Amino acid sequence: MIPGPFSYHRPATVADAVTLLLTLGDEARPLAGGHSLVPMMKLRLAIPEHLVDLHGIDGLKGIRRDGSHIVIGAMTTLHQLLASDEIAKSLPILQETAAVIADPQVRYRGTIGGNVANGDPGNDMPALMMILGASYRLEGKSGARDVAASEFYQGAYFTALEPGELLTAISIPVPAAGHGYAYEKLKRKVGDYATAAAAVVLTMAGGKVATCKIGLTNLSETPLLAEDAAKVVIGTGLDAATLKKAAAAAVAIMAPAADARGPVEYRKHVGGIMVTRALTRAAAKAG
Ligand code: FAD
Repeated sequence: MIPGPFSYHRPATVADAVTLLLTLGDEARPLAGGHSLVPMMKLRLAIPEHLVDLHGIDGLKGIRRDGSHIVIGAMTTLHQLLASDEIAKSLPILQETAAVIADPQVRYRGTIGGNVANGDPGNDMPALMMILGASYRLEGKSGARDVAASEFYQGAYFTALEPGELLTAISIPVPAAGHGYAYEKLKRKVGDYATAAAAVVLTMAGGKVATCKIGLTNLSETPLLAEDAAKVVIGTGLDAATLKKAAAAAVAIMAPAADARGPVEYRKHVGGIMVTRALTRAAAKAG
């Protein structure tokens, strides 16, 4: 439970952090809240020789409205998301989800940037980012580029981040007024990662689903967009038969690992139930 030795660096700008990461190479890792990285270091599953702490960089924190988008700095903590009036008004699904991540201590330190950049299939925010159409601002030696969340996740702990690149901000289009939303997460106990979870954002018109996006957490090596399941519900009033069909379409793309949270068939089965519950609750909330 004691990490290996490492050197600590605290740059004051994104440019300095990028230079440090490039100069120090593969043995250097950015440090945000440390609540994923430090446990891995204590287990010696990660043995970085250099930590580049992002806390000294002004401008990586904060939540602001930019026209039709909400822009969230990478070093904004999960606690700050929960406390934000702007998020409560524009993106309440982020608060519903942040509230079921870990515990208050972890949420005080853990950052949205660390949560989405980590690439752990158990992180809850990435599936949300995919259904909300978010994009990530990545900054490296060649400048800045924006990558859609739906293109970012390539495998467990493999993302579109290039060596030396930092995720500096997340930009999320504000969903339509009156949208319905829900994040349903089955976990073994408070503070645990998901056995299975489903995120839904939808709009209703005349009692029928007009638009719908469904995301899945910890049901594959990467977060998943359940596109066929969403197609099943569009144009329907979400009757029991449709919900069953949508759950089956979502289950068809799930490929969870068998682990301490249960065997594959169990996790897929409860994954389908999370989809049904999230659709039902989102529809009930839609204005
Ligand atoms: P760090 O741990 O500092 O970094 C994580 C990884 O991302 C590292 O590889 C780091 O180099 C990289 N990184 C961080 N920031 C950046 C950046 N800006 N640009 C590029 N790379 C970056 N999470 C959940 O989603 N759901 C849970 O249920 C959950 N339960 C938890 C329970 C416990 C007991 C603990 C300790 C953690 C739990 N977490 C959970 C993880 C927690 O949410 C983490 O804080 C979060 O995943 C990572 O954020 P961080 O700021 O701590 O990142």
